[in-house]
Amino acid sequence: RLFNELQESKGNIRVFCRCRPLNKDEISSGYKAIADFDTARDGEIGILTGGATKKTFKFDRIFTPKDDQADVYADASPLVTSVLDGYNVCIFAYGQTGTGKTFTMEGTERKRGVNYRTLEELFKIAEERKETVSYDISVSVLEVYNEQIRDLLNSNPSSKKLEIRQAGGEGLHHIPGVVEAKVESTEEVWDVLQAGSNARAVGSNNVNEHSSRSHCMLCIMVKAKNLMNGECTKSKLWLVDLAGSERLAKTDAQGERLKEAQNINRSLSALGDVISALANKSTHIPYRNSKLTHLLQDSLGGDSKALMFVQISPSDNDLGETLSSLNFASRVR
Ligand code: ADP
Ligand code: MG
Repeated sequence: RLFNELQESKGNIRVFCRCRPLNKDEISSGYKAIADFDTARDGEIGILTGGATKKTFKFDRIFTPKDDQADVYADASPLVTSVLDGYNVCIFAYGQTGTGKTFTMEGTERKRGVNYRTLEELFKIAEERKETVSYDISVSVLEVYNEQIRDLLNSNPSSKKLEIRQAGGEGLHHIPGVVEAKVESTEEVWDVLQAGSNARAVGSNNVNEHSSRSHCMLCIMVKAKNLMNGECTKSKLWLVDLAGSERLAKTDAQGERLKEAQNINRSLSALGDVISALANKSTHIPYRNSKLTHLLQDSLGGDSKALMFVQISPSDNDLGETLSSLNFASRVR
């Protein structure tokens, strides 16, 4: 399988690049597609940067606008299912707002994304293994906004701030008081995911704007009991739809918007710093510089496995942001 093959030769972080199609507005405005997929099969994407110049970037996999949700999930699947074998795993979608982060992770009811497909497959495998392993699967849905954690499954949150703790000093990180919804079937999963999604809207006057400025984090916790020897393991899988990576327009650089932008920059650069420290095998990995990296700590580094989707727009109009996202993602390799 693709992921496991790559796993042996390289580190524990993979990068898949996904480019969405040009949309109707872009077409009617006369914007042109600048992404070149001629060498996509070799993991290379070209970006036409003007004139005859082309800048190429290499990743573990390139998904073109023609690849659908099932194609994308097929390559992520070996990674997500390794959580059932005791690995901590993390998948996140990075990119400018409007490039398909939510489409890749959440998807729509008809074109379901990685989150739903993952849970569906976990249940399927758990069922296949039920004679030998008993699995207990639960889900938390969190939002990180302005360096504060919100529990999207708790309809009656206390006013106390949610803080990250580490079990026994070196166990898994957790947040005391957070709702961990036990899920037993795929039918239940869609409801829980929808409940989390709906809760994101509460208290914000523009849902899309709010969600582009916060990180949406789904945590799947798996307890496995080996029925042969009684051995128990705990592992977790993070599925993260990151805040938009775009830079703030100068005209917006004040007040609440400025504070939000600074917090987004801080957490996304902290994520970049952690990943490159891991790639460079640094002795100090700066997990504590943001809530995002602190939460993901168990699933980034060590023998955990991570996958980053770098999402891009094909439009010439977005060239600057596209190059900046591809450069960010290239730090990982
Ligand atoms: P983001 O979460 O990065 O802001 P969205 O996931 O909301 O972006 O995507 C923006 C729009 O583009 C949505 O209408 C979404 O359905 C559409 N879209 C994104 N990626 C694709 C794709 N690969 N194929 C078709 N439509 C897509
Ligand atoms: Mg989104």
